[in-house]
Amino acid sequence: MKILNQQIMKNHNLKKIFSLILRHGSISRIELAALTELSKTTISSLVDSLIQGNFIMDTGEITTGRQGRKPSLLRVNAEKNIVAVINWRLEELELSLVDMNGQVIYYQQQEIGGQTDFAELIPQAYYEVLEPQIGRRNFLGLCLIVPSMLDVSSYRMISTVLPVREEDDVLRQIHEKLKGKLTAVFNDTACYAYAENVFSQREFDTFLFININKGVGAVIVQDGTMIKGEAGMRSQLGHFSIDRYGSPCVCGNRGCLENLIGESALLSRAEKLGIAKELLPKNEKISFEYLGKLADGGDRTAMDFVSGLAADLAFAISNVLVIYNTDHIIIGGKGQRLGRYYLQQLEMHLKKQGFFIFVSRAGVRYTDLSDDAIMRGAARYYIDKFYQFFEDMSGFFVIE
Ligand SMILES: [Zn+2]
Repeated sequence: MKILNQQIMKNHNLKKIFSLILRHGSISRIELAALTELSKTTISSLVDSLIQGNFIMDTGEITTGRQGRKPSLLRVNAEKNIVAVINWRLEELELSLVDMNGQVIYYQQQEIGGQTDFAELIPQAYYEVLEPQIGRRNFLGLCLIVPSMLDVSSYRMISTVLPVREEDDVLRQIHEKLKGKLTAVFNDTACYAYAENVFSQREFDTFLFININKGVGAVIVQDGTMIKGEAGMRSQLGHFSIDRYGSPCVCGNRGCLENLIGESALLSRAEKLGIAKELLPKNEKISFEYLGKLADGGDRTAMDFVSGLAADLAFAISNVLVIYNTDHIIIGGKGQRLGRYYLQQLEMHLKKQGFFIFVSRAGVRYTDLSDDAIMRGAARYYIDKFYQFFEDMSGFFVIE
């Protein structure tokens, strides 16, 4: 029992000093001791272990003439250690390797093209595309991101975006084929929100993060911590009803936000308004990017359409703010391709509805992170929360 406790304590301290090195970029042993209140001997021994495991490196001594010898600085050995991440989207798989600094060092997109045998497709993509790229680096784990609610106790996915039924039990099958490799399955919105929390430049640390893609999701980050919404089981903004007499949704509700403003809903929305031909004269594919370019370019039809999308989202946000009030709303996902006019309309509509004190203070902005934030967020979340140094992670598996 005592040995076990010591091991847990050691792992805890290894993680603590590793994240301090990560956060500071470079730091000395003495500074680590001061920040952690661990003894210099303990710090030295933990640092030696991390250096031997190739997780960090000693950059060598830095000397300056006048002040004499300065302690040598430690850095994370970023490129040597990677997390593999697969982002499962409706139309494609995004396959990536993320280093310990949170940089995507390898990326490839693979079209799904109507295939539905995901229990074959996803393991195959890992073995054929990602594994050969890992080379001699330390493999820390494989994370699968899904646009889906996750029932943690039954391993089931409940997705209104992917063509997967709950009873398919596809995660268990994927896990079987990726035994010893797949270490975590995460909800997509949570990964975006985590990336926003860790990597973006902000002057506040409480905000509502809204992911707009084929579906719509949201996570509240309060004082730098995600409010337990990781698996998407705590809240589902996409299924917030903005019209209780609206069309029924597969979730059981009516008039769900996702079915009105998600990327999959754009064509039917345009058809209902009778403007599909006008918006898409040459049978183009209607996407957020397409609409955003038209609207920002001054196309009147697209501007009205985009303004309608913004009004619907603003209505949902104004109601969310009555339940959880925050001044900061960040929009991420492909929805940010809707462009400047959409954001401007969103702010305008938000000021016009809802509880005036709350909405008058609320500001909306797009994330300053690029599309790969979701994969960076997944990798960092896994490292911060689950990865254990010097433990065999091949038997580890978490759904969250
Ligand atoms: Zn719904």
